[in-house]
Amino acid sequence: MDNHCHGIQQSQAFRDITSWRQAFTESADPRMPREHVATTSFYRRLVRRLAEFLDCEPDEESVFTARTKKDGRELAGELLRAANVEVLLLDMGFPPSEDVVTVPELGQIGGCRAQPMLRLETLMEDLLTENDSLEEVREVLAAVLDDVRDQGYVALKSIAAYRTGLDIQEWPREEAEESFHEYKRAVEAGSARLVHKPLLDTLLHVAFAQASRQEIPVQFHVGYGDADTDLLLGNPLYLRRVLQRPDYRGMPVVLLHECYPYTRQGGYLAAVYENAYLDLSYGIPLLGYNEMLSFTRAALGVAPSSKLMYSSDGIGVPELHWISALDGRCVFGQALGELVSYGELTLTEAEAVGESMLRENATRLYGL
Ligand SMILES: [Zn+2]
Repeated sequence: MDNHCHGIQQSQAFRDITSWRQAFTESADPRMPREHVATTSFYRRLVRRLAEFLDCEPDEESVFTARTKKDGRELAGELLRAANVEVLLLDMGFPPSEDVVTVPELGQIGGCRAQPMLRLETLMEDLLTENDSLEEVREVLAAVLDDVRDQGYVALKSIAAYRTGLDIQEWPREEAEESFHEYKRAVEAGSARLVHKPLLDTLLHVAFAQASRQEIPVQFHVGYGDADTDLLLGNPLYLRRVLQRPDYRGMPVVLLHECYPYTRQGGYLAAVYENAYLDLSYGIPLLGYNEMLSFTRAALGVAPSSKLMYSSDGIGVPELHWISALDGRCVFGQALGELVSYGELTLTEAEAVGESMLRENATRLYGL
């Protein structure tokens, strides 16, 4: 069960190696794929693994050539099937839905189930453009989120960490109103991007109330992302105010991407707050094997294993969904093997923990 990933671009054709490398960095600077991406541990490992898969020489040029010879859908199908994933939970908020294969198509290509999540900030931006007062937006948002599962979504997703940070606060009505009007002025000036903190925070609380009532999980982007995110404000400890609210206890909070590099902080939250869960993703962040092992050890060392769930955060190209599934299993095996050697788990228990992190915990949490 891949509990968090994104769509795959309809076109898998890349004009050259540099543009393919762009899929394996969170940097927007064009010099990064030209000069640095190929030197990361992640990329070197990817090239070697792909060479085995594509049955070619283990160098970048040969791998890129072998990849390019394949039809994009065929390549995606082969990689997704080899990943042996039963369910993909998809954040379709990015890349734009017109660029990626649709949810049912992706399931068909990959021979798996694919289910969408609803990205809150995108929905809010739509509603803010369509409505004339903050009160209206609050009402319509609550109505749209009245029955999330009935609309076919398994979870909500927030990218507040990318916009105004995770210190989600409660704002006096006047400040939220003022923020709403600032947003409207920004829309008139050509930008519908919701980066207005009192407004975003206020609307998030509307969503949290609905999520709590329906006991629907909310995934939060936490930690590592592109340069758009302020990593200082992406520390999961900022979520304390939300996690402390007794009326939000019904809302499972999924801290994505092992909160990298704040894995210990995320693991701590999962150990202390009953409704906090820690996602462990192995495609993105783009890390070396040792670092993946290290964050997995940290997570298993502090959080209950019933709170840990596997994902890839694969996006755009199927290579990410695929290599993550291989690496995730391998790292789980090694980290759990260590716990057996320390006498913390029996072999039978370790196998059950592996299965729970790869499948059962997510199946139960998302009600699949
Ligand atoms: Zn993601």
